[in-house]
Amino acid sequence: MGEIFVVVEHRKGEVREITFEMLFKARELCRAFSLNLTAILLGGKDEGFSGELAKRADRVLAFEDNRLATFNSDLYKEILDRLIREHHPFITLIGHTSWGMDLAPALSVKTGFPLATDCVDIQAEEGRPKVIRQIYNGKLFSRVSFKESPGYLITVRPGAFLPPDHIEGASGVVVKQELPAGLAELKKEFIEFVDTGAGDIDITQAELLVSIGRGIGEQESIVAIKDLADLMGATLSCSRPVVDKNWLPKFHQVGTSGKSVRPKVYLAFGISGAFQHVAGITGAGTVIAINKDKKAPIFRVADYGVADDLFKVADALKERLRNA
Ligand SMILES: Cc1cc2nc3c(=O)[nH]c(=O)nc-3n(C[C@H](O)[C@H](O)[C@H](O)COP(=O)(O)OP(=O)(O)OC[C@H]3O[C@@H](n4cnc5c(N)ncnc54)[C@H](O)[C@@H]3O)c2cc1C
Repeated sequence: MGEIFVVVEHRKGEVREITFEMLFKARELCRAFSLNLTAILLGGKDEGFSGELAKRADRVLAFEDNRLATFNSDLYKEILDRLIREHHPFITLIGHTSWGMDLAPALSVKTGFPLATDCVDIQAEEGRPKVIRQIYNGKLFSRVSFKESPGYLITVRPGAFLPPDHIEGASGVVVKQELPAGLAELKKEFIEFVDTGAGDIDITQAELLVSIGRGIGEQESIVAIKDLADLMGATLSCSRPVVDKNWLPKFHQVGTSGKSVRPKVYLAFGISGAFQHVAGITGAGTVIAINKDKKAPIFRVADYGVADDLFKVADALKERLRNA
């Protein structure tokens, strides 16, 4: 029986959420194509990841060696190329993350397999995968098919698939692997993680987030929304342009290059809903969007929406709260 590979992503002793998202989707594809699911773990010694992964995969090929404790695309590419040649997986899933963006194109060149990047869905059609990608900043979806190939590489956008919190029953085998001999000399070396600093607030722990985007217009206007956040007992967060313009420090930023947040309620003021932002709020409870453009993509992920001027809405809310 053929198989689907999922390349496990981890950092600082933790398996990253994208891994579980890919395993969840891969399981569905395995059913559609009658394949087995194999997690490929390239990690450090004694990190204890394989047990957790075996709950979600039929098999874990576990390379546990301290040379693999941190990501190195050169090393990953060499090992994965050899594994792919040996096992012929039908599909190999890699996260569309800074890891995946570094690794997947190089692996595609090395293996000769076609690659589709940043996919938000994968479907089984006529014995081949078809993928869905977003284009024009999320305004359109495109369906992409592959030319026939012995194997396919796909990078998956974080947050595209939501796995259940709890898995019951499944128990795969863990097969320990040795690093192959004769690997090519590495061209780069990991040095250290540099913390951007948590700052004086931690948006990842907030239960109520009031978030501002470029729609705020200018730094001086932030105070109007900050007042609202204070009245609500909420924490202020923002989209990336607000940080890029130096209107707020980086630790307020939500999204793929900021923080993933899980508030009970997320209020988005003047945020368009680009996927890099939305990927950071997949764990939010209720999303409420305020945007003057009723076609803004944020309304697709919002539970409630107000298509109006953000200052008007903020003023009305403040008045309500002051009179409550
Ligand atoms: C590698 C990479 C990583 C990235 N990482 C992140 C990330 O981590 N987080 C992130 O947020 N972005 C990230 N981005 C940027 C992302 O692609 C978008 O550009 C960004 O999210 C847009 O921010 P925005 O919604 O605030 O601004 P815009 O897209 O400009 O949207 C502003 C919105 O405000 C609305 N608006 C304007 N005035 C008003 C008003 N008076 N009242 C109501 N609504 C109003 C407009 O209709 C518009 O929809 C990243 C991009 C790249 C390439």
